[in-house]
Amino acid sequence: MKQKKLILGIDVGGTSIKFGVVDGNKILNEISLPTYAYENPAKVLAQVKTGIKNIFDLYPPEKFIGIGIGFPGIVDVDTGVVTSAPNFANWKRVEVRKTIAKFGLPVFIDNDANCAALGELYFGRGRKLSNFVMVTLGTGVGGGIIINKKLFRGESGGAGEIGHITIDYSGPTCKCGKKGCVEAYAGNNYIKQRTIHKLHEYPDSIILELVEHDLEKIEPKVINDAAKQGDQLAIKILSETGYYIGIGLANIANILDIKHFIIGGGVSNAGRVLLKAIENSIKEHGVRNIVKDVVVTSAQLKNKAGILGAASLVLSNLNSK
Ligand SMILES: [Zn+2]
Repeated sequence: MKQKKLILGIDVGGTSIKFGVVDGNKILNEISLPTYAYENPAKVLAQVKTGIKNIFDLYPPEKFIGIGIGFPGIVDVDTGVVTSAPNFANWKRVEVRKTIAKFGLPVFIDNDANCAALGELYFGRGRKLSNFVMVTLGTGVGGGIIINKKLFRGESGGAGEIGHITIDYSGPTCKCGKKGCVEAYAGNNYIKQRTIHKLHEYPDSIILELVEHDLEKIEPKVINDAAKQGDQLAIKILSETGYYIGIGLANIANILDIKHFIIGGGVSNAGRVLLKAIENSIKEHGVRNIVKDVVVTSAQLKNKAGILGAASLVLSNLNSK
């Protein structure tokens, strides 16, 4: 391994930070450290630096072409400043790139939804596609738009806020403060609330059993597991969720004439029920000629999405130079 070709991909999450040594499409080594997001930015950055040092003890920095960081917040890609991070305490305009640049390698940072889209473009389902939209389902609903094999960031880097497309202007209030956003139907907490609300209509549902009658434990994995066992409530919830997401995606299809949608994140492991519901809903709500052959698939990278997504930032930036 004389050649300089490795990439350090860093996936900053709310509870842990994952560091992966990426060679081609393989992760050679991976370590994880707690984020301490509830403390302060200095503590989080210290954890990032510790992880990088640990990696460089195993692989000398000279072997790397760059460091990519995926961050769950609003990132100014040009300055490398994370302007806000909703789940991190006392976070306000933090110079992440400047701090990490001290290691002497090119550093690229972007939000996790954009990284997920780039990850699928370079390493996953999007390798053979020129245009697609990546949707990441979780507490929030994130999106990344790939046009002509490049991430479309928009005028201020905010493109792809799929979760906040309005699908019902008098719908439930979203955590962003507006009404009827996609996220107010398809975010994890909203899915949970809809499930709890409907439990009494489905007395035979196994969901209560799966969570040992503790409603707080209802989460996407439980609903997915129940759906796989044929539970009618779980199937209903996933079908509805797909229907709502599909309305939002039909709007994107209409505007951009994009035919491929890749769905990642917790709920997407549900498989066909959710994916088919999304696809049907796009076909129902979009302009026929555009959406008649639309394809909705699940993301390929799964638990490697964070590290490979961050690593793909380096590829995408160095390739465009
Ligand atoms: Zn919203």
